[in-house]
Amino acid sequence: MKVPLLDLKAQYLTIKEEIRSAIDEVLESQIFILGPKVEELEKSVAAYSQTKYGIGVSSGTDALLISLMAIDIQPGDEVITTPFTFFATAGVVARLKARPVFVDIDSVTFNIDPAKIEKAITKRTKAIIPIHLFGQCADMDPIMAIANTHGLSVIEDAAQSIGAEYKGRRAGSIGHLGIFSFFPSKNLGGFGDGGMVVMNDEKLFEKVKILRVHGSHPKYYHKIVGGNFRLDSLQAAILSVKLKYLDEWSHGRQKNADEYDQKFKTSGLIEKGLLVPPRAIYKNGGDKNYHIYNQYTIRTKKRDELQAHLKSNAIGSEIYYPLPLHLQECFKELGYGKGDLPVSEEAAGSVLSIPIYPELMAEQRDYIVATIVGFHA
Ligand SMILES: *Cc1c(COP(=O)(O)O)cnc(C)c1O
Repeated sequence: MKVPLLDLKAQYLTIKEEIRSAIDEVLESQIFILGPKVEELEKSVAAYSQTKYGIGVSSGTDALLISLMAIDIQPGDEVITTPFTFFATAGVVARLKARPVFVDIDSVTFNIDPAKIEKAITKRTKAIIPIHLFGQCADMDPIMAIANTHGLSVIEDAAQSIGAEYKGRRAGSIGHLGIFSFFPSKNLGGFGDGGMVVMNDEKLFEKVKILRVHGSHPKYYHKIVGGNFRLDSLQAAILSVKLKYLDEWSHGRQKNADEYDQKFKTSGLIEKGLLVPPRAIYKNGGDKNYHIYNQYTIRTKKRDELQAHLKSNAIGSEIYYPLPLHLQECFKELGYGKGDLPVSEEAAGSVLSIPIYPELMAEQRDYIVATIVGFHA
């Protein structure tokens, strides 16, 4: 049996007709950039994320970049984030000639450890970018408390976590700005690049909107320098169709995760050193946290051998992420070394994401579990 890490075709086949008629509508209108389809998506994603405003942009990366521009990050400013994330989170900081300051992650959730943030704050610190990695929210209450005490902005990198909840609040709605990515492999994925910035503050909304079109306001008059961060109508039309199914899909992922958790536990793999991804329990959070499992990430000391075993059995898997950002060559001049952020380094050496997509069939799930159990036998 063959199981890819993600099977986008399986999902497409379930909504093919609807998607094609949405595409047709755009083709008939010949409105390709921004326009009513983008506005419709912005309204529905903002409502879905419990925020007032949404602004469709060209990618999740650009959503982060435009957010930093909106809070006026300058060369030399410091922005706190973690090194255990997709490169974009810190790359955008460096592109503005600001400095990414890396704080280690919590060993259980892979998300920023709030207890380690305050030590990293200096006079130059302007913002914190917590990442809601793999579909689970970072511990936002202490992060917001620290940010308020020190007058910092918070940008939630919810690229992997649209619809995830923290104590009943949706990812992206808690910080000053929140960003989503519509990269095809995200839970809400387009047919190309796309992203969105969400926020409640009207001034930030106006600024991001102007920055999206080169800072032009009114048209052809520029008080600030922005860029081309526009979203295509075709992507917006496709995403609006898919958004209707997002809860169902994320729920399907969660059900698959429940099944994996259960089966790995009963087959004795936990005793053999396999860690399943835990669901965070936050103080006073009750059971109101919602993990949308963009990835189901297991941990084991024998990670590379396990990945080779899965590969030889035609099961897709991926290491997100093999080298923490503080050890990347392009960040050498930041001065970090091996051992500086040990929890992130340990995670990079032991994580493995396995297929979790909602269209996985029962026999595929059984096959994956049996293959992993077989490896440990
Ligand atoms: C995907 C991703 C991004 C970037 O989104 P793109 O749409 O690919 O530019 C940023 N941060 C994280 C955590 C991501 O997973």
